[in-house]
Amino acid sequence: MITCCTESVDTLAVTARKHTYAMARSRGAQAPDADLIEATTRGLECAAGGFTIDPWKPVELSLITHAHADHARAVAARYIASKASVPLLRHRLGQDIDIQGVNWGERLTLGETTVSFHPAGHVLGSAQIRIQRGEEVWVFTGDYKPDPDPSCEAFELVPCDTFITEATFALPVYRWPDGRTVAREIFDWWQQMRRSGRPAVLFAYSLGKAQRVLAELTAFTDETVHVHGAVEPLTELYRQSGIKMLPTQRIDPSGPREDYAGKLVLAPPGANGSKWMKRFPKASTGFCSGWMRVRGNRRRQGYDRGFVLSDHSDWQGLLDTITGTGATRVLTTHGQSATLVRYLRDELGLNAAELRTRYAGDDASTEEADP
Ligand SMILES: [Zn+2]
Repeated sequence: MITCCTESVDTLAVTARKHTYAMARSRGAQAPDADLIEATTRGLECAAGGFTIDPWKPVELSLITHAHADHARAVAARYIASKASVPLLRHRLGQDIDIQGVNWGERLTLGETTVSFHPAGHVLGSAQIRIQRGEEVWVFTGDYKPDPDPSCEAFELVPCDTFITEATFALPVYRWPDGRTVAREIFDWWQQMRRSGRPAVLFAYSLGKAQRVLAELTAFTDETVHVHGAVEPLTELYRQSGIKMLPTQRIDPSGPREDYAGKLVLAPPGANGSKWMKRFPKASTGFCSGWMRVRGNRRRQGYDRGFVLSDHSDWQGLLDTITGTGATRVLTTHGQSATLVRYLRDELGLNAAELRTRYAGDDASTEEADP
């Protein structure tokens, strides 16, 4: 019924359903139930539950997977999210939003559905959302990674019939080294810069990646790290949630110039090349990202060093997770969807299709560069 792997499922699903209805009518049978979750112009909508997941247009009730800006937009009258992500969501969407925080695995009845949140291992509080109607179970991952990360809850494998997965790094070239090994490389680079009397300025997304670096580095030092103004408040929220990280000091853009030679500085990628960088003469720059796995990306983006550290699943992690859920149907949201869909169909014999959404995946486009 679905033959094209590049077409988006919001088109495909409608076409497929019309086809099925037509077939059902021609046989005199009843039309099948609609999908439990559908991509609409507002977001991933669950009509049976009366809610939308990670919407991008105004809705009444929104279930939010995590606080990155491509998933958490201030467009809902009410929000439900994991308890651990509530402080981050209030910071990003407004302190006065109407939000209900739920415990991991706690079951809520919403319309005809039962809903629960399960750790996605992506950033602090990030959740997969499990939706059940009768015997049918769907899981939407948001962004996720099964790899160990001392700055957030460990990923939980949730069995389901239909699995909606991200596909940010869904190419075989994306294989992640162990996070501790990468932290050691960062620490060694920092020490090398110290010996050369230069600042080491490391660019990392301000929500999640920066805190992961600060947490991983506790294995090697207890020194203070100097952080950009976009990183500090989020780091403080992590600290209040009990995440152990290196001490940090906010760089005051209006304060007197300081000497950062030999210091490690953490900043969002948007600060690279900005006026803000003028305070770090002779700095060596590094970037922490899964994109650094591909040769040439570091040079093209003008970084001295690239560190392969991602908060998304690598290729093998995606395949292991998908097969681990036992799902017979897989829908992909953002990233290298076409490659993943083709592999799942051709190699694993799964019913797979692409679901068109507005999620970005690498969060780069949503980073603040202002101090
Ligand atoms: Zn994210």
